[in-house]
Amino acid sequence: MFVSLLTYTPEAERVVATAARLCYAEVDCRALKQRSNPEDDLKMIEKVLAIGHHGVLEHAVFTFVTEGVSRALTHQLVRHRLASFAQQSQRYVAFDGGFAYETPESIAARPELAARYAETMRHLADFYADLRQAGIAAEDARFILPNAAHSRLLMTMNARELRHFFRLRCCNRAQWEIRTLATAMLVEVCKVAPALFKNAGPGCLAGSCPEGAMSCGQAAAVRRKFTDLDHSPT
Ligand SMILES: Cc1cc2nc3c(=O)[nH]c(=O)nc-3n(C[C@H](O)[C@H](O)[C@H](O)COP(=O)(O)OP(=O)(O)OC[C@H]3O[C@@H](n4cnc5c(N)ncnc54)[C@H](O)[C@@H]3O)c2cc1C
Repeated sequence: MFVSLLTYTPEAERVVATAARLCYAEVDCRALKQRSNPEDDLKMIEKVLAIGHHGVLEHAVFTFVTEGVSRALTHQLVRHRLASFAQQSQRYVAFDGGFAYETPESIAARPELAARYAETMRHLADFYADLRQAGIAAEDARFILPNAAHSRLLMTMNARELRHFFRLRCCNRAQWEIRTLATAMLVEVCKVAPALFKNAGPGCLAGSCPEGAMSCGQAAAVRRKFTDLDHSPT
């Protein structure tokens, strides 16, 4: 899996703090345009996070590119309706030379199953090539491509949606591949806008586990993992 922050709102923390200041202080727009004190910005962000005025977080957006992820993952990812996506097309891009795919660890660890898995992928690639050679368009040949097939996306989310996404997808209850992706994205945004993503991560970081009877029962270990993540600036 490859995931990287492509670009993001310049001075993201200042933009969010300025939006909050506009709401709470008697300051005109000319005054708001003056460079603010970064320490005041951080205090303002802490305040809006604490009181739940998360609307102002929507003014900062972050764009990621990712590849080497399965269609099983991307199908879950695009359910996040407040994000914007561009995904490599299986209609316009033909996989005549074969397709890359993901192998879950649980299968890779069992040699017999892993061999059958690889063989199945080979058969699918061969059949795809046969279909294409028979004149079938890529948009129809793709029907035999599996959930495991790799995909490539560019996606943009604002900081509010990202915090929501991290709450759901960094959680142990999320599927392992999207959890890996979400955790890597969290590390990236913490490097460039740490105040906006303070305490972002699975629901249990903010208190008791919100999953109730479905809880993984490992809240303490999860909290440790997210406290220890490497957030050092690039
Ligand atoms: C562990 C796990 C298991 C899952 N299992 C399944 C499953 O078995 N089957 C399945 O179909 N899906 C499943 N999902 C996907 C889940 O149902 C959501 O579609 C997905 O997580 C996107 O979440 P969301 O709607 O909160 O987020 P987003 O679409 O990113 O929206 C963010 C927030 O905006 C608000 N919002 C967005 N759109 C609307 C709207 N139209 N009306 C009102 N409020 C809105 C909501 O507050 C929402 O939480 C699962 C997700 C997780 C994390």
